[in-house]
Amino acid sequence: MKPQPGSYTPGPWCPTQASDGPDKSGIWLKDGQVLDADGAFMGKLPELYQDKNWQMVDPKTGKIKVTDTREACDAAARPDVDPKYRNYCVQCLPEYLESDHQTYVIPLEPLAPGRTGEVRMGGAGLAFNGVRLDGPAPVDAILGAYTIAPFDDCGGHVNLHAGYHYHAVTDCLNKSAPAASHGAQIGMAMDGHLIFARLAADGKAPADLDRCNGHTVQGVGYHYHAGAPGGNSILACLSAESGCALEGAAQTCDASQVRRPPPPGGGPPPR
Ligand SMILES: [Zn+2]
Ligand SMILES: [Zn+2]
Repeated sequence: MKPQPGSYTPGPWCPTQASDGPDKSGIWLKDGQVLDADGAFMGKLPELYQDKNWQMVDPKTGKIKVTDTREACDAAARPDVDPKYRNYCVQCLPEYLESDHQTYVIPLEPLAPGRTGEVRMGGAGLAFNGVRLDGPAPVDAILGAYTIAPFDDCGGHVNLHAGYHYHAVTDCLNKSAPAASHGAQIGMAMDGHLIFARLAADGKAPADLDRCNGHTVQGVGYHYHAGAPGGNSILACLSAESGCALEGAAQTCDASQVRRPPPPGGGPPPR
């Protein structure tokens, strides 16, 4: 099964004409804000990034170049972008994915927060619709190659490696999430703790979040709140021992390496 949401069809991402509005394109994240990555945005890139090398829109025809084959999306989505895809809007379509599945190993009993770790390659967690909640998109590398790789209005896009995945949690995901008294539960972090929508049920963002966006609430326990959609960071870090995503059959993940409390009388905990 391909990792795809069941409740909506992913996309759209790239506009193909300067006149294409937000209904025909996705979003882009800049300086904490969510911008429509529509035709007008593509035309404004030299001003937005103060660099005249941007020319996403053909000045004569108004056309926008889009990676429109599997090979093109692969070459343009690599860290070392093929220079011929400069000033392309980069998108990979879900149909480019081979029928495949992702396996995630996540602690069933999350450990208490205390061992802060980075969000690794496997992502920050999983949305309850089965889609990966990824770490930050490599925006600097994308922009450095004079490309834009928009996210759809739900904060997701496709690469050939991870399939469809999220870099932002938008209202689109919040609305379809199961509601609990503390707020909408959107997924599970790689350390097994729950992830709630950015805003709690009272409509406010909790003020006491730690640097990984987590806090403890009576009756709920330790959990996270997704970061603001413009921030390109669903979770800043993970607070407990985390699992991993298995990339291919050869890899293994031992999420059972339980961190034990320090021995009586002190001393460092065994690793
Ligand atoms: Zn991505
Ligand atoms: Zn909370």
